[in-house]
Amino acid sequence: MALLGMYILVTLACAYVRTSVKTWTLATAIVLIASIVLTDSSFWAGFFILLLFALPALFLNIKSIRQQYFTQHFLTFFRKALPQLSETERVALEAGTVHWDAELFSGKPNFKRLHNMKKPELSTEEKAFLDGPVQTLCEMIDEHEYNHVKGDMPKKVWEFIANEKFFAMIIPKEYGGLGFSALAHSYVLQKVASRSAVAGATIAVPNSLGPAELLLHYGTDEQRNHYLPRLAAGKEIPCFGLTAPSAGSDATSIPDKGVVCKKKIDGKEVLGISLTFDKRYITLSPVATVVGLAFQMTDPDKILGDREHLGITLALVPSDTPGMDIGRRHLPLDVLFMNGPVRGKDVFVAMNAIIGGEKMIGHGWRMLSEVLAVGRAISLPSSSTGGAKMVAYATGAYARIRKQFNLPIGRFEGIEEALCRIAGKTYSCAAVSSMTAAAVDRGERPSVPSAIAKMHTTDMARDIIADAMDIHGGKGIIMGPNNYLGRAWMGAPIWITVEGANILTRSLIIFGQGAIRCHPYVLKEMEAANLADEEESLKTFDHLLFKHMGYTFQNAVRSFFMGLGSWRLEPGPGDKFTKQFYSRITRYSAAFGFAADVAMLTLGGSLKKRESTSARLGDVLSHLYMASAVLKRYRDQGEQSADQPLVAWALHHHFYEIEQALKILSYNFPNKAVGFMLRRTIFPLGTHELPPGDRLGHKVASLMLSPNETRDRLCDGIDKQVSENNLVAKMNQVLAKVIDTEPLERRILKAEKSGEIDAIEPTEQLNQALERDIINKSEFNTLTKVRAQVAEVIAVDDFPHDAFDRTQAYTTREEAKIA
Ligand SMILES: Cc1cc2nc3c(=O)[nH]c(=O)nc-3n(C[C@H](O)[C@H](O)[C@H](O)COP(=O)(O)OP(=O)(O)OC[C@H]3O[C@@H](n4cnc5c(N)ncnc54)[C@H](O)[C@@H]3O)c2cc1C
Repeated sequence: MALLGMYILVTLACAYVRTSVKTWTLATAIVLIASIVLTDSSFWAGFFILLLFALPALFLNIKSIRQQYFTQHFLTFFRKALPQLSETERVALEAGTVHWDAELFSGKPNFKRLHNMKKPELSTEEKAFLDGPVQTLCEMIDEHEYNHVKGDMPKKVWEFIANEKFFAMIIPKEYGGLGFSALAHSYVLQKVASRSAVAGATIAVPNSLGPAELLLHYGTDEQRNHYLPRLAAGKEIPCFGLTAPSAGSDATSIPDKGVVCKKKIDGKEVLGISLTFDKRYITLSPVATVVGLAFQMTDPDKILGDREHLGITLALVPSDTPGMDIGRRHLPLDVLFMNGPVRGKDVFVAMNAIIGGEKMIGHGWRMLSEVLAVGRAISLPSSSTGGAKMVAYATGAYARIRKQFNLPIGRFEGIEEALCRIAGKTYSCAAVSSMTAAAVDRGERPSVPSAIAKMHTTDMARDIIADAMDIHGGKGIIMGPNNYLGRAWMGAPIWITVEGANILTRSLIIFGQGAIRCHPYVLKEMEAANLADEEESLKTFDHLLFKHMGYTFQNAVRSFFMGLGSWRLEPGPGDKFTKQFYSRITRYSAAFGFAADVAMLTLGGSLKKRESTSARLGDVLSHLYMASAVLKRYRDQGEQSADQPLVAWALHHHFYEIEQALKILSYNFPNKAVGFMLRRTIFPLGTHELPPGDRLGHKVASLMLSPNETRDRLCDGIDKQVSENNLVAKMNQVLAKVIDTEPLERRILKAEKSGEIDAIEPTEQLNQALERDIINKSEFNTLTKVRAQVAEVIAVDDFPHDAFDRTQAYTTREEAKIA
């Protein structure tokens, strides 16, 4: 029994420290032989244990044996069980690169890779752009006027945006663009979005999935030289039309057609495409001069070759081409950026309109997937982060300024809870946004991180604005120039829906793509199984399979012992404050690696249809990624001790969500016995993580309620310049004065309670306080002024009785064509 115990112990220890099979063999052999020799074990006990060791040792170490008796048969089974990837899935898988996301799959992330990622920094030129044109644009913004009065930005704002090359941040300088880094692009969007969703969306689109990005990657020289300088100079306004009434999330099912044909133009026969399409929800289309279009290309007369169906193809179509029906507008939740349908019937374009020329016919979906991996990393994560920072900056100030029951509302525990959710999630949004933008700057196409960033920053931004609305009460509800929140609340579902709707992204993309893309072995095993050379295929597959089995076993053992508490002993980076967090990431990475393998092994191809399982595994990967981003941001910002409550809140939140996702996954696992085994392995002592606690929450909320460096760092990069339309900046100016006058207010309150002041009306109260020497004349003047400013901050708008008769402004129901 002692020998068996020793054998198991050495095996578990080797798995825990992740040794190779050879090291395990050697270590076990030495320990067993030494035990047999040094103890008085019987011959048969020694013989039995050596046999028990030799069988797996031979099997694992002698490749020819295991290949012949195991791998060969398993390979046949694997090939049959291999999920058939559709063309769309294959393209999506190949579209991206992997980096930190793959480390999180490893079960033991190498934090040096996280730390070695260059600290994101802006160039002098980029900083000057943010302080110059971006600041000027922010000062021009009047969101109420765009949305409620005019339904559009004024001409001078459009011209400013175009002339200052806001549409050309990603276009290289050689074509006249700004050639900015992804980080600068992200910061510009954050700052603009912190002031206006309309201006933010207008700028985001041409720099994201628009024609410029497609032309840069795939355009012919002729197309680049024609379009890029014109787009950079703002002479062309682009849009991109993919979505059709019948094809939203399932974008590869677009029915729009492009038929290869010839047409006589000025007496000459021109080879081209006749396009018939119906696109909806297309951002910037009502003002676009050039439309990027995705369509199914067919060649029924076999003019180009012997294939009739050529696949999804992309073309650039000038909006004044005969047959184009463009210009009408949708009304996206009262956030009136330009958005509308684009239709066309028998629109003829020459073959040189195809992006990338004839060689790119049929490659449209791959082109879009590759571009999406980059664009999605920047546009919505940045806009959501800008919005979140604005909301955090505004709500902290409002909660200190606004009083009820003679106390700032931010001092009530209920409000504190909501305030710290706002602060913690804003920290995470900013961290994820800059880490993902930095990946793009390193030349990566982060398909899995960009899906995580898009889904979670928009989701957290929606939570943040919901909490802020609750804290603001009626002030957030009554629309008008004095409302800086309501529009962000209304717009939140837009960002959830676009660029991959969130439910779909969570259920299908994050883990669905991540499992194969980032897993250390699965994609390689699939490739090995498909090798044409049978001998090579068996050899490579065998090598990968046994490494994979070792990885799964090691993750199981590590999960179990770390579940018992050994994660605290994990060697890792970090100081007294951060070490525990790095170790927790290691713990959950092992648990995630094990759970992912169990799911793939037991569910195989059907995992694709088990969306809830896939979504929960995706949640674990996402929260691991976000927790890493939080630690990276804290490190990049110089590990400021004052920021620790925020960092700790965000991390405890992510770890709690990871445990919940794993727990719910195990309870709902399709096979109950497997779910039970999973739960007992990962949580042998049950789950322990709690949501961030009240004491920590109190510290976080306090940081939000007064001007300080932590709050400034949290809300960095947004427009804090006091100007006529920047109510949030004005309110923060008042915040400092409110805090200065709080001792005076307390004196007055004390006098009121003692009966020295009996007036109820605020002005009379102040007069009494002055008359009865409770405050002096100078204090009276200060308080009068500050109280007036507070009244301005908490004011809401009212309008003439007939102000909302919009019959002149909007088309009637009868006139609105169904888009
Ligand atoms: C304001 C706005 C601007 C836009 N701008 C553009 C643009 O410029 N160009 C462009 O081409 N498109 C644009 N879109 C379209 C946008 O990309 C689509 O709205 C989006 O892809 C979702 O499609 P849908 O609205 O038809 O929803 P649907 O596809 O009908 O989805 C409805 C719901 O079902 C969920 N769902 C769908 N399939 C699955 C699944 N397999 N598993 C789980 N859940 C699923 C979705 O997540 C969603 O919650 C825009 C949309 C809006 C609203």
